[in-house]
Amino acid sequence: MAVIIDGKKIAQDIRDEVKEQVALLNRQGTEVTLAVVLVGEDPASQVYVRNKEKACEYCGIRSRKILMPESTTQEGLLQVINGLNEDPGVNGILVQLPVPKQINADAVIRAISPLKDVDGFHPQSVGALSIGLPGFLPCTPAGIIQLLHRTGIEISGKECVIVGRSNIVGKPMGMLMLRENATVTIAHSRTKNLAEVCRRADILITAIGQPKFFTADYIKEGAVVIDCGMDRDENGKLCGDVDYSDVFDHTSAITPVPGGVGPMTVAMLMKNCAAAIELQR
Ligand code: NAP
Repeated sequence: MAVIIDGKKIAQDIRDEVKEQVALLNRQGTEVTLAVVLVGEDPASQVYVRNKEKACEYCGIRSRKILMPESTTQEGLLQVINGLNEDPGVNGILVQLPVPKQINADAVIRAISPLKDVDGFHPQSVGALSIGLPGFLPCTPAGIIQLLHRTGIEISGKECVIVGRSNIVGKPMGMLMLRENATVTIAHSRTKNLAEVCRRADILITAIGQPKFFTADYIKEGAVVIDCGMDRDENGKLCGDVDYSDVFDHTSAITPVPGGVGPMTVAMLMKNCAAAIELQR
């Protein structure tokens, strides 16, 4: 019988740990502040920002929301980021992506000080992860490592196949699994015989954004399956990249969607905000 990996509970445990950590910092006279910049009025982005604010409130982290109009220029946004970089009262900076098309997202990511880069997207954070130096870890992949650790799943020496090579999920996931001593394969849209490659995996991590793409045919008997997908099925219902009911009986552990990887991202953001204090010291 497969273990259902409970991301909701694990994320709550992490938020509780951060809350304690922040309370301790407060007793020592240190506040933790996250600045969240939202450009435009994209409804999905507004929901994400609201969830981040709520999590901050729960953990005792101050959140400072900076709303900018859709017509904001790149220069205008970079100026705001520079101000936040230099503000000693701000520990973490997050610009909610995507940004409007007149703004280059890479330039925005590069403008955030690596000491305040709580999303872990800055090239310096990515480089630090690659060579094992301290730095912020990107939240979704770091959350997956927590899911595996806290469910008692061994990673060392295991065959791990990650499908998807984005800068925010697939690639950093590969670096993190390597750091955990897994043998890592990163597959993508040009990978040949994908099902065969996936069937090598003791741990299969899917991040492709295609609803219910991975059927039992992609799963080695007894594999651990981690589904990052946040997709919509034919009825508009939230689902993952994995066809959950088809693969369930073939796995030893699996994340549901919703309630698996999803809740971990904001919890890990909170963890990064608290960790920022240490890094800035
Ligand atoms: P992305 O930037 O669109 O990247 C998708 C990756 O999947 C690409 O590397 C692409 O390959 C690969 N791919 C697409 N179709 C494929 C196929 N049929 N076979 C093999 N590989 C295929 O996506 P992302 O931002 O990494 O997000 C992936 C999923 O994770 C989405 O559902 C997203 O909503 C979800 N997500 C969830 C969270 C969370 O908090 N839970 C956070 C981030 C993302 P190429 O590089 O060759 O094009």
